[in-house]
Amino acid sequence: MKKFIHIFLASFFLTFIVSCANEKTSKPNRQNMKSHPIIDIHMHAFQWNKYGDPPPPNLITGKRPTARSNNEAIEAYIAEMDRYNIVLAVGSGQLEMVKEMKAHVLNRFIGGIEFPKYTSPVNKRMEKWPSLNELRILYESGQLKIMGEITAQYAGVAPNDPKLEPYFALAEELDIPVCLHTGFGPPMSPYMGDPNFRMRHGNPLLLEDVLVKHPRLRIYIAHGGYPNLSETIALMLMYRQVYMDISAINWLLTREEFHAYLQRLMQARLGKRIMFGTDQMIWPDAVGMSVDAIESATFLTEAQKRDIFFENAARFLRLDTSKYLTGSFGKSLAPDSETVKVISSELRLRPATPGDKRTVSFNLKLTGVKSTAVQVTGFDIDGVTETEMFINDQKVKLPAEIVADMAPKTVIIELKKGILKEGENTITFLFADSVGGTTGFSILGLKIMLRK
Ligand SMILES: [Zn+2]
Repeated sequence: MKKFIHIFLASFFLTFIVSCANEKTSKPNRQNMKSHPIIDIHMHAFQWNKYGDPPPPNLITGKRPTARSNNEAIEAYIAEMDRYNIVLAVGSGQLEMVKEMKAHVLNRFIGGIEFPKYTSPVNKRMEKWPSLNELRILYESGQLKIMGEITAQYAGVAPNDPKLEPYFALAEELDIPVCLHTGFGPPMSPYMGDPNFRMRHGNPLLLEDVLVKHPRLRIYIAHGGYPNLSETIALMLMYRQVYMDISAINWLLTREEFHAYLQRLMQARLGKRIMFGTDQMIWPDAVGMSVDAIESATFLTEAQKRDIFFENAARFLRLDTSKYLTGSFGKSLAPDSETVKVISSELRLRPATPGDKRTVSFNLKLTGVKSTAVQVTGFDIDGVTETEMFINDQKVKLPAEIVADMAPKTVIIELKKGILKEGENTITFLFADSVGGTTGFSILGLKIMLRK
């Protein structure tokens, strides 16, 4: 969410927040600080003086940021990453600042340009639609890996507005995840630099036609679509590729209101597609508040918390989790290891035709490689294991957990020596009637991991 802060707004916000001030604790009470790895799927790479010099205090905690340079602002967020075991941050802002963030945080950061509305220092509300060519170059060169946060609501542009169409088309073509701002904004936004802001454009259900037109679009709705509860549930029930983040609402709303909203989403069986985010802008203490909002939710099991903190985002981003998990959470790749992407678009074995086959080939250089693994992201729309995998004609068993009836799942399978060879290799997926294939299967991601 964009925060456009005016001093006079402070009193308005105060009434909004007073009810949660009492239950807020200054230090989040995490039992095991390092227990859950966390992906912050929604934060911002913002200039330290975006909203003023000195920066305004966090309206909930009253704490004023201490950073007085971009460098200090980035360092302050990194300190929170370390404190809360945030293994990956996904953030947006103006391109220059995103690049600066990336240079500091390196492999723990994925960036995107925030558009069309954004604030540049000091308190200048701007509107700019990046050129499609510019975006294409930034994505194809790997400099950016996310589209958005798209702040179209602030510009008076609804999710189904034709103005957004070429951006969605580009994201679908390049397989780039999209973060769309939905829900609400700072109170009084139409009077404060965003005259075209409309609450009605925050309704996630307005995405429906976009999803029908772009079925492969990987999109998440920011801020959980709050307060559009039924429309958010409606959209996500019907379109199972859609994810959401719970950023901003986890620290701006009263704890009671946030928990009530989250619990309704969980009751609607959306727990596998809810992702943790902070919407951290210039207030690093928002990170701890956001974490605590999940940790204190007594209606969540530890497994559900883990999904929200890490697993759901890892699946949505199709991460090679071994790069982000260490110790008991997974094996770290050796620093000089590499991954080879085998496919860049979905392999579909659907509609069901037993015996249907897809083969992909790829080249490998195995000099110095000590061990290998294959990472498969698959999506089965029912509970039947009906796909077999062959690497260079040798059967490699797909583990049972890749069969998931709600969402794509990623597994890493260690390979025996000799299965992969120097030069050309093939992987075949067979939609097998022998294992009772009934509906179909999609392979969404396929990578070879080479450990040196
Ligand atoms: Zn937002």
